[in-house]
Amino acid sequence: MSNATIIDEKVLNECLNEITRALLQSDVQFKLVRDMQTNIKKIVNLDDLAAGHNKRKIIQQAIFNELCKMLDPGKPSFTPKKAKTSVVMFVGLQGSGKTTTCTKYAYYHQKKGWKPALVCADTFRAGAFDQLKQNATKAKIPFYGSYMESDPVKIAVEGVERFKKENCDLIIVDTSGRHKQEAALFEEMRQVSEATRPDLVIFVMDSSIGQAAFDQAQAFRQSVAVGAVIVTKMDGHAKGGGALSAVAATKSPVIFIGTGEHMDEFEVFDVKPFVSRLLGMGDWSGFMDKIHEVVPMDQQPELLQKLSEGNFTLRIMYEQFQNILKMGPIGQVFSMLPGFSAELMPKGREKESQAKIKRYMTMMDSMTNEGKPVLDSSNPKLMNESRIMRIARGSGRQLREVMEMFEEYKRLAKIWGKMKGLKIPKKGEMSAL
Ligand code: GDP
Ligand code: MG
Repeated sequence: MSNATIIDEKVLNECLNEITRALLQSDVQFKLVRDMQTNIKKIVNLDDLAAGHNKRKIIQQAIFNELCKMLDPGKPSFTPKKAKTSVVMFVGLQGSGKTTTCTKYAYYHQKKGWKPALVCADTFRAGAFDQLKQNATKAKIPFYGSYMESDPVKIAVEGVERFKKENCDLIIVDTSGRHKQEAALFEEMRQVSEATRPDLVIFVMDSSIGQAAFDQAQAFRQSVAVGAVIVTKMDGHAKGGGALSAVAATKSPVIFIGTGEHMDEFEVFDVKPFVSRLLGMGDWSGFMDKIHEVVPMDQQPELLQKLSEGNFTLRIMYEQFQNILKMGPIGQVFSMLPGFSAELMPKGREKESQAKIKRYMTMMDSMTNEGKPVLDSSNPKLMNESRIMRIARGSGRQLREVMEMFEEYKRLAKIWGKMKGLKIPKKGEMSAL
């Protein structure tokens, strides 16, 4: 072994130890971390490292890729098809977020033109039906359940039958959970599944369950054919390392994550930002690279400064809209702002979205006080009806549209606010991952 190789082995071990700590803090199962280490040692060729320029970068990249691979069970989950009836059953322990996630899942599809319906087969917890009913009513989604009936199987079957007759294409069955993993719960899940024959069973896990994730997921998997995972409460402090365990235990992919209590705080799972976060890098590594790539050099420091202050003004929104419209391949620029893309700029509808942004800007243009723009000083939280009406009149738009613009502002401000206190990396510093 040459001297160089010994040094490289030291770098490798240092790097692995560092990352192991981060992963354990993120609740990745100890066994999985060890597997990852073994694989990395096999993959990273020490002789190659000796020739390489940036050893750390090579090792980190290998670890990053390995974690992405661990989150990919190798086969996609069953995907329901619009206008064809699918039954989707949700399972998970009580409090994991099933009922909330059922509605989010239904709402997500409804917005895309599906006809979803919700069935409450949780007869265990008092108030379960009311909760589902409330959520469903808010989202205008048909629902089925009962205050009287105590047999979850019976309700599930009745609900599924009814919505099949009504030609719903996505019939979602919410089930009960208990605090502990008990035989009775798993037997109930088995029976509901047997009676409703779901096309897909989704295991819902709270991102903060930590090391318990593997056993929990495996226990459900043993009683029903879990085919997908949804990780909830990703807006909290937990990094969601348990997802790796759930994927390993169920051999199913993560399909969505929950990022808040509201109906629209729901995102399609994206492996790269997820892994960045597991590694303690925050969600912003890719984002930073994108900024360096697409924002003109001279504007970068200012933008990053504003980002780190976390204070999203209407002026900033206006400027970002301007950038977006000016900078050509609009989809690319949009993808640089996490959370912007899905809502404001759905794929394939760029033209429409562009028109919408222009409309928003016209409205913002009309926000003046004695002819002077007030974008910096206006606090959108203090908008009252008469001001909104004035903006609508001034820009020749509907009241509804002005309100929509402020809603959009609030949504973006929330995303922006998460970057508060951001350490501003220099170019290239984050590109290792
Ligand atoms: P269930 O017992 O599995 O049906 O869980 P619920 O849907 O009733 O959710 C339990 C609690 O978690 C509720 O207070 C929800 O509002 C909350 N919750 C669910 N998903 C999320 C999420 O993604 N983020 C946050 N912050 N809270 C969530
Ligand atoms: Mg529930």
